[in-house]
Amino acid sequence: MSGVYCGGCGEGDLLPDPGGTGRRPVRCDLCGWTADEAELPRKWPADDEAPWTKRERKAAGRLFFLWIDLDPDDDAAVFEIMGLLGLENLSLAPRVLVELGARPSAETLRKLSGVRGVRGVRLVP
Ligand SMILES: [Zn+2]
Repeated sequence: MSGVYCGGCGEGDLLPDPGGTGRRPVRCDLCGWTADEAELPRKWPADDEAPWTKRERKAAGRLFFLWIDLDPDDDAAVFEIMGLLGLENLSLAPRVLVELGARPSAETLRKLSGVRGVRGVRLVP
């Protein structure tokens, strides 16, 4: 699997995902991103990247991945999510991956799920 990096968090060991779809379904063990490896472009991280930093931060309990399914045309939802999570920016996409330095509280997750335009929230265990 070397040379193939996660499209969610940018790191991870992509592991075979027998339940997934595609010719060679794979899954990121860090953030839960899934893909068909047969369809993935191969790339190598730049020399100045520290490829395992996120893994170490996650292992240390200082990095949490949160997937949010939302309506990208709903600006209000995007700003509300940024406010709830204290983010300064958020990419507009039907599914976004947010990296957090602390585990969001159940209350925060509940509020997120209740934001109009948010279709799903999933904290990676
Ligand atoms: Zn990942």
